[in-house]
Amino acid sequence: MIIVMKPKASQEQLDHLIEKIKSLGFSVNISKGKERTVIGVIGEEDKLRVQPLEAFPGVEKVMSVLKPYKLISREFHPENAIIDINGARFGSTDICMIAGPCSVESLEQIRTVAAAIKKLGGKLIRGGAFKPRTSPYAFQGLGEQGLKYLAQIREEFGLAIVTEVMDTRDVELVGKYADAFQIGARNMQNFNLLKEVGATKKPVFLKRGLSATYKEFLMSAEYIASRGNFNVILVERGIRTFEDYTRNTLDITAVPVLKQFTYLPVVIDPSHAAGRRELLEPLSKAAVAVGADGLMLEVHPCPEEALSDGQQQIVPERYKEILESLQSIANAVGRKIV
Ligand code: PEP
Ligand code: MN
Repeated sequence: MIIVMKPKASQEQLDHLIEKIKSLGFSVNISKGKERTVIGVIGEEDKLRVQPLEAFPGVEKVMSVLKPYKLISREFHPENAIIDINGARFGSTDICMIAGPCSVESLEQIRTVAAAIKKLGGKLIRGGAFKPRTSPYAFQGLGEQGLKYLAQIREEFGLAIVTEVMDTRDVELVGKYADAFQIGARNMQNFNLLKEVGATKKPVFLKRGLSATYKEFLMSAEYIASRGNFNVILVERGIRTFEDYTRNTLDITAVPVLKQFTYLPVVIDPSHAAGRRELLEPLSKAAVAVGADGLMLEVHPCPEEALSDGQQQIVPERYKEILESLQSIANAVGRKIV
């Protein structure tokens, strides 16, 4: 259930109402917007429906939410959330770039990419130290050593670190180095992991599962929010379809649909969607045009030597060209690339 307070409702009126709701055994989440406060009530809605909550002073309306997700719904927070990571404001008019290699492979490799990103005005770098690989014999990532390299890069270049956490046991460790967690597609429904990152305050890039519906995707975001972390950025990274020319099928429709249902920022990752570097420019253009809040692109100094996802990674020079090609589309939709 969602309770919308009147624009001029006092703190006392709010406290009085919250006290009543809590005394009935429900918990609350408060969203303070520019204009008004909205209360999300968690618990069995049927029991609350019989209460005359509309009669409380300061209450404008009481809405029952039939959707299974509440805290991340547009109803709960009608304005877009803005999640600031190192000055890149996801959900604002910024289109925020997250570039970097698939995996952190060496200090030299990550430093070369970091220098290029910095030169192009970027604020974030991605790179996996823990890698979810289909084969147990494939490169699994450098683990903590990779995180240390990332931390060194942050020191040197002032870039914020986005890196994947795959296991509940590593949340603390990865959190020591990362500015934002990435939850990979294969872990989108690892509910314990979602709860664990939900208990932190760090932004979470939540990737859509390979065959997840919008509802399932949003429910996973709700898991994170339900633990108190509302800094969730949704990442559409292609879904599995019958088409096998591309690695996955980029679901561009996800952007407007998700934005209709939630206030959370939505980012597109064309690299994992296409799995082919020649498609990155057109798909990135489509992402900007359709209203994505950011783009995640895999950039490697030498993709032929990459230890993972070599076929879809681009060199920094190509990344620069793609960035330039996006500028006029961003301008046309009143946004700017950061
Ligand atoms: C990645 O970003 O390197 C990755 C493994 O992505 P996904 O979880 O979307 O496959
Ligand atoms: Mn990858």
